[in-house]
Amino acid sequence: MSALQTTLGPLDRDDLGMILPHEHVFVDLRTYDQPGYAEADPEDVVRLMTAPIAAARAVGVTAIVEPSTVGVGRRPDILLAVSRATGMPLVVPTGVYREPWVPPWARDASVDALAEWMTTEIEAGIEGVVDVRAGWVKVSVGDEGMTPIEEKILRAAAMAAARTGAAVGSHTVRGRVVRDQLAILAEEGCPPDRFVWIHAQQEPDRATHHELGRRGVWVEYDGIGDPAEDDRYVALVRDALDAGIGGRLLLSQDLGWYDPAQPGGGTPRPYTHLPTVFLGRLQDAGVDDDTIGGLVHDNPFDAFAR
Ligand SMILES: [Zn+2]
Repeated sequence: MSALQTTLGPLDRDDLGMILPHEHVFVDLRTYDQPGYAEADPEDVVRLMTAPIAAARAVGVTAIVEPSTVGVGRRPDILLAVSRATGMPLVVPTGVYREPWVPPWARDASVDALAEWMTTEIEAGIEGVVDVRAGWVKVSVGDEGMTPIEEKILRAAAMAAARTGAAVGSHTVRGRVVRDQLAILAEEGCPPDRFVWIHAQQEPDRATHHELGRRGVWVEYDGIGDPAEDDRYVALVRDALDAGIGGRLLLSQDLGWYDPAQPGGGTPRPYTHLPTVFLGRLQDAGVDDDTIGGLVHDNPFDAFAR
């Protein structure tokens, strides 16, 4: 039986309620060569992030998929500490972000070595943090297309996904680049239904969302959170439901987080708009409760469980 692999162990479908598929707890968007990159005391992160995570729990969020991969400050030890302090299961990625965030060791590694590293993180655990296994593979590519190094990282991700059944999620803002990525996945035996198109809302052509959803891709609208944007997101969801891809749709906010580049980690943005406001807007627009349950529970579980 498939399970969501989290910081608090594997969780079954029935263990979980609402799952947010793209929220950050700890991110550093500076590159690896900047002083202080990814540095923070886990206790400071716990102190700052406990209130927003408790608020999310209070409105029904039962797990969060954390997309901060290698290159943007991934700290599995910090995520584990936050999970233990708050009781919130987090799904931690393996994988590497796009250029210029790719650290030198990953730039220089062979595709086979990268695939082996990702597979080990998924099956055995991350960087000696033995209690945390990676739950998925997070990568990213340039807005207009993949560089050779980004293509190598994606190919390694596809190899690891084909071996383990883990999902590959990619920050990709153009639908035509997703098509190029699916071709690489196919070459490595990874089917489109193991691919999560992160930030799909940034592709203006909705027909492309629907086409890729019909091919099996998980189409993630993850910029929800600004009340002024709710109408646009309601329309996006309604169009996707009408196009028949409601079973491939993921909804999230891309919010949070402790930022080590800011004094004291900065001010995290809350995770509660989607559960407390946006789902009600969907109801107002005629989306029934079963469909909403599919969007916030079944879909993220099916996308990320293995
Ligand atoms: Zn993000």
